[in-house]
Amino acid sequence: MPSATPDTAGLAGSLAISAKSAAYSPAPSLHRDSHLTTSSKRETVAFCSVSELMRTHIADHGAEDAFFVADLGEVYRQYLRWQAHLPRVEPFYAVKCNPDPRVLRLLAKLGLGFDCASRAELQAILELGVTPDRIVYANPCKQASHLRFAATHQVGLLTFDNADELHKIRRLHPHAQLLLRILTDDSKSLCQLGIKFGAPLHTTASLLQLAHDLGLNVVGVSFHVGSGCLDPSPFADAVQRAHRVFAQGAELGFDMHLLDVGGGFPSALISNGATFERTAAVLGPALDQYFPASSRVRFIAEPGRYFVSSAFTLAVGIIARRVVVRDQEESLTPTEPFAFEDALPEGPTSVVNHHDQLPPTPNDHPAYMYYVNDGVYGSFNCLMFDHATVHPRVLASGGVFRTRQEDNGRATSSTPLSDASALLYDSSLWGPTCDSIDCIAAACRLPQLDVGDWLYFPDMGAYTVCAASQFNGFQTSPVVYTDANNSIPYALLL
Ligand SMILES: *Cc1c(COP(=O)(O)O)cnc(C)c1O
Repeated sequence: MPSATPDTAGLAGSLAISAKSAAYSPAPSLHRDSHLTTSSKRETVAFCSVSELMRTHIADHGAEDAFFVADLGEVYRQYLRWQAHLPRVEPFYAVKCNPDPRVLRLLAKLGLGFDCASRAELQAILELGVTPDRIVYANPCKQASHLRFAATHQVGLLTFDNADELHKIRRLHPHAQLLLRILTDDSKSLCQLGIKFGAPLHTTASLLQLAHDLGLNVVGVSFHVGSGCLDPSPFADAVQRAHRVFAQGAELGFDMHLLDVGGGFPSALISNGATFERTAAVLGPALDQYFPASSRVRFIAEPGRYFVSSAFTLAVGIIARRVVVRDQEESLTPTEPFAFEDALPEGPTSVVNHHDQLPPTPNDHPAYMYYVNDGVYGSFNCLMFDHATVHPRVLASGGVFRTRQEDNGRATSSTPLSDASALLYDSSLWGPTCDSIDCIAAACRLPQLDVGDWLYFPDMGAYTVCAASQFNGFQTSPVVYTDANNSIPYALLL
């Protein structure tokens, strides 16, 4: 588990700030003593903007490695938003999406339930003091030892979608409360799960019959419309299908009283028009129609991406650069190290040229290859596994921070630099490993940047750090925390 306490050991070797770091004066809005230290952990929470925390982590603490900034306030706001728009549905956070310990602790304090899929996830949540009734073990295909662990620790709510699993459950956890996971239309989702999980509707009657014959206890239905669901209509269709399976279960005498509507809720950062409000406006009325309050059916959901995606911003440093010369002779003059200075609030009017050469012009069409210190084997594994697209923005160049201090990294503007007058060049972005598949962006437009400059990527909380490897000896990027708008009640942060 990465420590969130700034690592000052990297200071000495820092190319970027070693020379003049003393000249950097932190903005008055950030007071070190306003940081909250939790009793058990060394993790601290700042109360400054995401931009400000990135700046101090680099300029004051000498960060040289890539790092995440987590705005816990964003997680909290997503919780409030859920309560406002889907009050009948209890969220059980999908741990696999981002098992960050601080996020898990905050969600546990808020009273959320948790969706776990393995023994280690069950253990992590139980160790937070969450009672077993607030857990759904939502992996329809469970290893025997993990299932035994669930039974031993009274985690009683399980999903299944096939006959073999029912026999396994009969053997290892016969008193569990079962949810039949049904197949839904996932064609509108970025990550389709239906090829792996979900019982087709023509199999549900026989599965329920088998559960009945084995003396098992089916209490309801679950589904997952697929992760990154861009169109809310599959939720309505899935609720209707679930209603049919409720009727089948009731016919066999099961007390069907729990509907788990799964995950697939969109990130808070709007891309391609999908919003939580639009999803809630389809799902809520569908639940009211098929399962009115008089039905006494309880609803839970398993949101993952929804809670964490927009809360995490990733900052990466440029560790190497290659100029692919086309029209102009490659300059072999090494560039001088520089020190970060406080940025002007609006940014400078043109890019500081800190290269010992003539500034390039668009006619020269230089193509830059930038090598940064996190990549596809690390946090950017989301490019492979989560079908993600990422958008680099300039955090610092030429020793000057380019973001506004109050910026929480969530601006939706497509310009990668606040300074619109800067020339943009064809560029590509590469991770630090020796594998050529480690390409973050094969073609993007960026201003001229140099070794020691920093980029940042918003919306990096979902399916990033959790699946990162340490291939080639590169560590996973640590997390530092803030509550940018001071929105979380103090007691919840302890
Ligand atoms: C991954 C997963 C989730 C979370 O999905 P999101 O799209 O991140 O909301 C929920 N439930 C199950 C069973 C999952 O596998």
